[in-house]
Amino acid sequence: MTDLPLFEQGRHLLSVAQFDRPTLARFFGLADAVGPIAQRQAVCTVLDGAMLGSLFFEPSTRTRLSFESAFLRLGGEVTTTTGFTFSSMAKGESIADTARVVSGYSDVLVVRHPDEGSVAQFAAASTVPVVNAGDGAGEHPSQALLDVYTMEKELGARGKTVDGCHIAILGDLKYGRTVHSLIKLLSLYEHLTVTLFSPPSLELPAAVAGYAVERGHRVAEADTVVDAVRGADVVYATRVQRERMTEELAQANARGDLLNRAMLREAGNEEVVIMHPLPRDSRSDSFDLSTDVDALPGLAIFKQTDNGLNVRMAIFLTALGVSTEAVRLTTKQRPWKATLRD
Ligand code: ASP
Repeated sequence: MTDLPLFEQGRHLLSVAQFDRPTLARFFGLADAVGPIAQRQAVCTVLDGAMLGSLFFEPSTRTRLSFESAFLRLGGEVTTTTGFTFSSMAKGESIADTARVVSGYSDVLVVRHPDEGSVAQFAAASTVPVVNAGDGAGEHPSQALLDVYTMEKELGARGKTVDGCHIAILGDLKYGRTVHSLIKLLSLYEHLTVTLFSPPSLELPAAVAGYAVERGHRVAEADTVVDAVRGADVVYATRVQRERMTEELAQANARGDLLNRAMLREAGNEEVVIMHPLPRDSRSDSFDLSTDVDALPGLAIFKQTDNGLNVRMAIFLTALGVSTEAVRLTTKQRPWKATLRD
């Protein structure tokens, strides 16, 4: 299926192509099992003594904080560096040297970098497992895992399955790496219908569409957002990746909403599951998901962010070869009140 090894103990996680359907099901089972720890109902120390090296050379809120929170909630420790300015890359150090050095300080590395393929270069020089937290317009595997995990839950709650469902994917499909990983991972399922809507110049790369088509899925481009979302079970909207394009192209894609409530009403689909990798660009004319959908019953964007913790814990447990039995033996009920709902 892929020339990359499946994602398991001692291995890097660089691409969603490292999963097949059985390994994905096992992985989601692990993400379920750590739910009480993710939700802070229980305290776990299974990673006591382990160190995460968190290296983010591009902006991030959710991905960095949730990877770091996941590691801390499993009882590990975190060292972090953000941006080029405060790392020796600003002094011309190569990816290979940086990777070799920081892997000497850590048990696992999470790396985000603006260049496609750069995290694989990191992994090649690292002595510990490396997790790709986004390599330019390339891939964002942990995001796709939490997206599909959320789809399984949301569709399951509606008596549906990911197999056979209709997913509308909207926005910047060219530079949006989450979409590239998502479509590849969804391709492990059966008989999907994927309808795409993107503005001119921001179309899905043919290789990504071809990946799904070769695996038997129906992929069609729609002329309007309303056409794309009509009859869909899930709609996945993405931000225009302004930082990856010319100012001229960014300007050409600064107009109104990508998706709002009126469009869903026109499509007769206000019940659809609404997803977005976030951040949502809430500036005016950002051409992104409108906040006027937030009261709709299918809004799942914050379920995605919450589920990100379970999924990232499962990534660390897999990479570091920790059994569910070891997790169970090192987990206890917490003595404090953690949320407003307690
Ligand atoms: N947070 C996601 C990413 O890093 C999506 C985005 O930035 O639009 O790719």
